[in-house]
Amino acid sequence: MTAAARPVLLVTGASRGIGAATARLAAQRGWTVAINYARDATAAESLVREIAESGGEVRAFQADVADDAQVVALFAAVDAHFGAHRLRGLVNNAGIVDRAQRVDEFSIARVRRMFEVNVFSAFACAREAVRRMSTRHGGAGGVIVNLSSAAARIGAPGQYVDYAASKAAIETLTIGLAKETAAEGLRVNTVCPGIIDTEIHAAGGQPDRAAQAAPTLPMQRAGRADEVAAAIVWLLSDEASYVTGATLDVTGGR
Ligand code: NAP
Repeated sequence: MTAAARPVLLVTGASRGIGAATARLAAQRGWTVAINYARDATAAESLVREIAESGGEVRAFQADVADDAQVVALFAAVDAHFGAHRLRGLVNNAGIVDRAQRVDEFSIARVRRMFEVNVFSAFACAREAVRRMSTRHGGAGGVIVNLSSAAARIGAPGQYVDYAASKAAIETLTIGLAKETAAEGLRVNTVCPGIIDTEIHAAGGQPDRAAQAAPTLPMQRAGRADEVAAAIVWLLSDEASYVTGATLDVTGGR
């Protein structure tokens, strides 16, 4: 396939962790990849070099996806660089946790930021993707994968109930958007990881969380980013052509 014929996939928060693993695997499977990141340009550009050296078509795009205007600009930049009408996939992966606190200790500023980064971003990116991919808007169809967390059903008491609630919102976004767009050439699904060994835990003040949790998990180990990426890329593929509105657990049985 010539580069110009490859479908374009936008992965938010792809400078490291699950997003980076998804970008890497998607490029191997023939996607042209738009790598979004917020702060770490060095990591994003290093991933761009790695994928490009393997023959992939790829570019990094800086944007804080919690900011609606930056989301609009991000999609416009992807269109401008790769060509309008090539977008066929979106992975709403960017997400944050915060320090462990009880609900009775939360500031509303903390909860607002959690929802801005984890939920509002997904709505804004989904809106832009649907406007480009839905046949209702003249698009050729496409796929959206949203990232939830096992925390959505566990609730994460004493840690981050705000994060858990933000991920529950993501699962409901998936169900509604999948039904809204199923007859418009779109599929929308959720991947729900358990405890995955990435840097997100350090940001929450628990850098050893994955190792510490391992003995308590059914498989006696945390998951890897590439194991989550495999599920995401499968949902993006035609092999999942009759799967929409679904939540796929990648939790090692948690
Ligand atoms: P991670 O290693 O902390 O990576 C987060 C990525 O998101 C980084 O690339 C970061 O970019 C980007 N990001 C953060 N805020 C952003 C913003 N406002 N705009 C754009 N990009 C932003 O996280 P991860 O563990 O791979 O998690 C990825 C997703 O999986 C998240 O939605 C997370 O909630 C979910 N998840 C993770 C786990 C787990 O155990 N790891 C479990 C369940 C669900 P910069 O570094 O450039 O800021």
